[in-house]
Amino acid sequence: MKKYIAEPFKIKAVEPIAMTTKQQRIAAIKEAGYNTFLLKSKDVYIDLLTDSGTSAMSDNQWAGLMIGDEAYAGSKNFYNLEAAVRNVYGFKYVVPTHQGRGAENLLSQIMIKKGDYVPGNMYFTTTRLHQELNGGTFVDVIIDEAHNSELEVPFKGDVDLNKFQRLIDQVGPEKIPYICVAVTVNLAGGQPVSMKNLKEVKELASKYGIKIMFDATRCVENAFYIKEREDGYQDKSIAAILKEMMSYADGCTMSGKKDCLVNIGGFLAMNDEDLYLQASQLVVVYEGMPSYGGLAGRDMEAMARGIYESIDEDYIKHRIYQVRYLGDRLIENGVPVVRPIGGHAVFLDAKKFLPHVPQDNFPAQALAAELYIHSGVRSMERGIVSAGRDKEGKNYYPKLELVRLTIPRRVYTYSHMDVVAEACIDLYQQRDSIKGLKITYEPPVLRFFTSRFEPLE
Ligand SMILES: *Cc1c(COP(=O)(O)O)cnc(C)c1O
Repeated sequence: MKKYIAEPFKIKAVEPIAMTTKQQRIAAIKEAGYNTFLLKSKDVYIDLLTDSGTSAMSDNQWAGLMIGDEAYAGSKNFYNLEAAVRNVYGFKYVVPTHQGRGAENLLSQIMIKKGDYVPGNMYFTTTRLHQELNGGTFVDVIIDEAHNSELEVPFKGDVDLNKFQRLIDQVGPEKIPYICVAVTVNLAGGQPVSMKNLKEVKELASKYGIKIMFDATRCVENAFYIKEREDGYQDKSIAAILKEMMSYADGCTMSGKKDCLVNIGGFLAMNDEDLYLQASQLVVVYEGMPSYGGLAGRDMEAMARGIYESIDEDYIKHRIYQVRYLGDRLIENGVPVVRPIGGHAVFLDAKKFLPHVPQDNFPAQALAAELYIHSGVRSMERGIVSAGRDKEGKNYYPKLELVRLTIPRRVYTYSHMDVVAEACIDLYQQRDSIKGLKITYEPPVLRFFTSRFEPLE
């Protein structure tokens, strides 16, 4: 039996959740058009839709809300946030934003000119969109292994230096304002980047005067993997590893809704004074004064406290181990999942789970709906529905057809993970009876949010 670490916290306030009957769930999913995004949260037992903004705050963070200083300018909570970012990440300047994409908007507008190229280790939806809106072209420079769901590679998020070099040779360094390095890589399944790779990226980028901006959304989870898997880091603290990681970047965008343990918030951080000046001018247009950036004082305080809590050794160990526990239980029982298990989610491989359902009949969507009916667990489709259509209106056929089980931070217990695992194992045993779906309504863009379906006869 592998060792997992029990919860390093106890429960002070409880939020009851609905225990529904199968009959109720069948009615609810029908009403939601077999789309888990359209379910009402009151009908959900264990909600694994996303880890974004769904964290449980600590008593210390809730206490912080009461000392919110709601001054229009110069709130003391801003200075606490600034100090937290300086102490924990090591960046000199910080501009708060309402969430991660607010920071992406500022960064992309300031740094990207029409015709520029922005390399990155796999795209993220909002990040790429902001790059494109400012006339940039995203270029994927992640290692090939990241696109294979079965390869067990310790740092599957690494940048492929040859791909990066090739882009520099092709378009010239003056067309590359920065490289965006995501630590960890969300769309590869929460896969980490090694310190060695970060150092090498820094070396190569510096040679050509290209800046390095991290998407630091899950940087603490990345630091944990370095401690666990990379030679020379076992005896270093998460705090020290995180500081070293950040020392290879010129700045970062951050969605506080993930690793900063808050329900809303984000920031743009950097060392360069000129970039800071430009960001503090632009933030006024989109978010608010540079000392609140779309956040209430109390929200900045909660984020500042969350930043310190996130580097607690026991917290982050439990976080990663809890996700791994769910993944290990599924692997032990032969349920097909993406490997290795990443930092924030476990992904069911719907093509292998339901080989009898063709991709045109939405196997991952069907599996997510069945999982809800069976157990009240809400997951999310990441396959052909999410991939959408090309400019000619033809479906993209993504290689990966997945159901994402995303674990919120500090919210659920190992018993909840058991419920989820047992439901997936049960369904796997009766997989032959699961049928595909057909689409009955489809919006023109981002169809996964609001499309409706019906079971095939
Ligand atoms: C969530 C996320 C973002 C965007 O952050 P929001 O707070 O949702 O705006 C950017 N990058 C990654 C990797 C994310 O997971």
